[in-house]
Amino acid sequence: MLSFVLSLGDDSRSLGVCTWLPWPRGRTSDLAAGGTEVVAGMISVGEARRYVLSCCRPLAPVDLAPAECLGLVLAEPVQAEEDVPHFANSSMDGYAVRSADVARAPVRLKVVGELMAGDDPAELLVGEGAAVRIMTGAVLPAGADAVCMVEHTRSENGVVVIEEAVAHGTFVRPAGSDIASGSVVFAAGARIGPAHIGILASLGATHVTVYPRPRVGVVSSGDELVVGAAPLAMGKIRDSNRPALLAQLGADRFDPVDLGHVGDDPDALARVIQDGVSRCDAVLTSGGVSVGDRDMVKVVLEKLGGGGARWLQVAVKPAKPFAFSTVPPGGVPVFGLPGNPVSALVSYELFARPALRLMAGHANLGRPMVTATAAGDLHRTPDGKLHLVRVAITASADGTLRAEVSGGQSSHQMSALAAAHALALVPDGDGVAAGEPVRAWLLDEEALAAPGADLGLA
Ligand code: AMP
Ligand code: MG
Repeated sequence: MLSFVLSLGDDSRSLGVCTWLPWPRGRTSDLAAGGTEVVAGMISVGEARRYVLSCCRPLAPVDLAPAECLGLVLAEPVQAEEDVPHFANSSMDGYAVRSADVARAPVRLKVVGELMAGDDPAELLVGEGAAVRIMTGAVLPAGADAVCMVEHTRSENGVVVIEEAVAHGTFVRPAGSDIASGSVVFAAGARIGPAHIGILASLGATHVTVYPRPRVGVVSSGDELVVGAAPLAMGKIRDSNRPALLAQLGADRFDPVDLGHVGDDPDALARVIQDGVSRCDAVLTSGGVSVGDRDMVKVVLEKLGGGGARWLQVAVKPAKPFAFSTVPPGGVPVFGLPGNPVSALVSYELFARPALRLMAGHANLGRPMVTATAAGDLHRTPDGKLHLVRVAITASADGTLRAEVSGGQSSHQMSALAAAHALALVPDGDGVAAGEPVRAWLLDEEALAAPGADLGLA
């Protein structure tokens, strides 16, 4: 049997059952981690994330109906097989005219027909001195090259008086003026939003080739956990990580799969992880990756994942312990998130979310980075770690942002995460003083929403 050595600083302890491959030590130049120096036994966020991402691949593309594709990324470009609009048409209610006829307005023209949206103009022709009554979206009839809006006309007994000249092309939407047949409408890599779905509908597209939403299993571990509203015996706590992680996956437009709860039993953990990897694209566990006697997830992951498994002490607070493996080796990524509720969600942000976005074909894997002014002192002392401080963000009318600590910062204090819009990056050192700029990952864009009924307009 191979021996397992946990590397924590210079103090090494054997866990007896599996192999621990220590990470390189020393300095890293990780931008996101603010250049944090890695102290012995810890690894920077950037380095840990690079390892995780190196083990993940975009999922095999699938063909889906456009309506199922909101938020997904195109794996293949979309080419137009039709012009949009399909024919030249009017963008106003008015009269289709020959611009040459109305150059010396006011002029009187004979009304020779009427076209509603959806009508086929068939043989209708706008000859010299003639006009056709036309509605928005109706086909521009032959002979006409402009539309005069109805507000600038008077009609009397089959004749219309055009009161203002209109130039060639006025209020005409040419065929293909939005999308030309044969053109590439969307490149591979485009993220599908509501406008894309509208365009695909305009083109009559029945399917597109996209990266699917990763199916992500979530299992919580711990003998102390009680599920749901069952009575709490002394010492027990309710499982809050699994509902929170399932909700976060849904918010991120992944496909959450509830794998339930298991105790700190290595065989039961192995069974539930095997079940998860057999039917999911990734699995999240929570708990069991710290240095407690019953922290078995890291051990099980090493057993199931072989040499690629990692148990890491990340130079970050919260979310220091983290385990990762692919199960079977080279297969499905399994993220061993820490048990403390804030750490579980922060570790998800640091490692799982970027990896799942990569699997879903996204090019940009992170959250938006904003710079805000610290509303108060962001205290800390040097400890070799990047501190991620839960902050509420307020935007002032001129667009500048203020970051205010949203509550107690211990890793069990979820109320401060619920009240936060962002994680402020406070690099190793003595903290950030009130009034100084601080960078932050924006978790909740609602922070930037205009207050009340104010749409930001006078
Ligand atoms: P562990 O890493 O398993 O030692 O867990 C660290 C802390 O997180 C302990 O206080 C656990 O009780 C708590 N914890 C673990 N799993 C959960 C969970 N699913 N929901 C809420 N708290 C948890
Ligand atoms: Mg535990």
